[in-house]
Amino acid sequence: MEATTIVLFGATGDLAKRKIYPALYNLFVDGKLPEPFSVFGLGRREWSDAKLQENVEQSILTFSRRKPEDTDKLQAFLSAFRYSVLDVDREEDYKKLLDMVESREEELGIPQNRLFYLSVGPEYFKTIAYNIKSSGLGTTKGWKRLVIEKPFGHDLASARDLNEKLSAAFTEDEIFRIDHYLGKPVVQKMEMLQHANPVLQAFWTNRYIANVQITANETVGVEERAGYYDKSGAIRDMFQNHMLQLLMMLAIHLPSDSGPGDVRARKKEVVEALVPVQAGNIASQVVRGQYAEGSINGKPVAGYTSEPGIAADSRNDTFVAARLEIDNYFWRGVPIYIRTGKRLKEKSTRIVIEFKEPLKSAASKESGIAPNLLVFEMAPNESITLQLNTRDPGGSGEFKPMNVDLHTHRDNTAEAYENLIHDAFRGDATFFAHWDEVERSWQWVEPILNAFANNEVPLRLYEAGSYGPKESDELLAGDGFHWWFDDIDAKAKQENQEGEQQYAYHANH
Ligand code: NAP
Repeated sequence: MEATTIVLFGATGDLAKRKIYPALYNLFVDGKLPEPFSVFGLGRREWSDAKLQENVEQSILTFSRRKPEDTDKLQAFLSAFRYSVLDVDREEDYKKLLDMVESREEELGIPQNRLFYLSVGPEYFKTIAYNIKSSGLGTTKGWKRLVIEKPFGHDLASARDLNEKLSAAFTEDEIFRIDHYLGKPVVQKMEMLQHANPVLQAFWTNRYIANVQITANETVGVEERAGYYDKSGAIRDMFQNHMLQLLMMLAIHLPSDSGPGDVRARKKEVVEALVPVQAGNIASQVVRGQYAEGSINGKPVAGYTSEPGIAADSRNDTFVAARLEIDNYFWRGVPIYIRTGKRLKEKSTRIVIEFKEPLKSAASKESGIAPNLLVFEMAPNESITLQLNTRDPGGSGEFKPMNVDLHTHRDNTAEAYENLIHDAFRGDATFFAHWDEVERSWQWVEPILNAFANNEVPLRLYEAGSYGPKESDELLAGDGFHWWFDDIDAKAKQENQEGEQQYAYHANH
């Protein structure tokens, strides 16, 4: 990996502290950082190099999955950090920064490879991109890259405007849009599993798949993000980006000799093939919910409109469920259900592929044969399991589901930010969101945003601590399905897992 300078906007902020510094440190310990590397932390606060280094150290001690054991190693890591005061609007701050970056590159004898990481509010993205270009920071003799975090726009028009401004300073190949769901090990394994297993490849089609369910349920409420969340809602905060990205990753079919470009090309094909929601028909395909008061884990919690910073008459969505279809050769006719929301019963992020039961009869139903499921679980635990049926070896003669475990979670599994930052250093854009995907996702979501804004979709209140409005269940029931692992299924799954340990097959053993 080539020596690199990281220019980190927002070095004094929360994301840097909780995610970026621990990720950089773990990459350093694993020998996965460019050698040498240097970091320029930026912010308006009048910090010194020493003050930044102190904060980085504190962040590692508090948030890193690995605690530093070797003091020399930690010091070597910290010594790569420099700080410069920069206000995004002040041109002279960029000039000063350029001088510092150039002299450090000379001092270390490294090429001018610069990775600009924007860990600041999206309202600053355009100004920073403009100033990187106009100050000469972006005119390098090496490569330059831009790493940004969502949100990428508030709607289609603002996303296009943002992209136009970024494109004036960086080419698409140089822009790395982080969607941290794409950094999760389970998501990164999806493509590999399909690739490496002809049997899964063969089953990855509408011939065998009955439906797909993508869930991202949270127990937390709006927390301290009222100002942002009340203008975004679940549809912008989760659905347009994370949920549609998960769908794209799941639905791609790759040739065996595929590379990063193929993943992006296929993802684009998937999102392009999403059947558009029809303006007059949105309420039958999309459920819009908002949490009312209730209880989470036995503790009473307030309803959304009683949360601090939220207007009493807010009609913002804290829950969205939708039924989608992909109109292509592989997926035509397979309903895809997506739901995400806050203040729900359990925290869970998972994808369930439910397979068809072509020979299902009343007798097989009575004997307890469950559909085969392929389950990608990202939270609360990480796992990939294939649920098959077998006869209970205990001798009762009943059928019982057993889980083939396809993913062993190790404690040192790299966290999403480590995977993604490492990829950005290497210039591998496979697990980043391409502009085409972002634009098409906004395009697909736009009629829903309009329908919500015009109140054309009823706002369903749901009790905090439930699984969301009952209309979300009805969305599936209309097709003869139900959400897997809610309530009774969650309990059954747990019992099965406990009782079935003896015949669970662990792929890595
Ligand atoms: P934050 O704690 O409020 O930090 C914002 C950073 O921006 C601070 O370092 C601040 O530095 C800097 N900043 C603000 N105004 C500035 C200006 N005019 N000139 C220069 N620097 C300025 O926010 P955050 O939580 O780190 O979030 C940063 C971005 O990441 C946001 O876009 C957020 O949506 C996104 N994000 C955050 C998380 C998370 O877990 N926190 C997760 C996903 C995405 P000074 O105050 O020193 O100027």
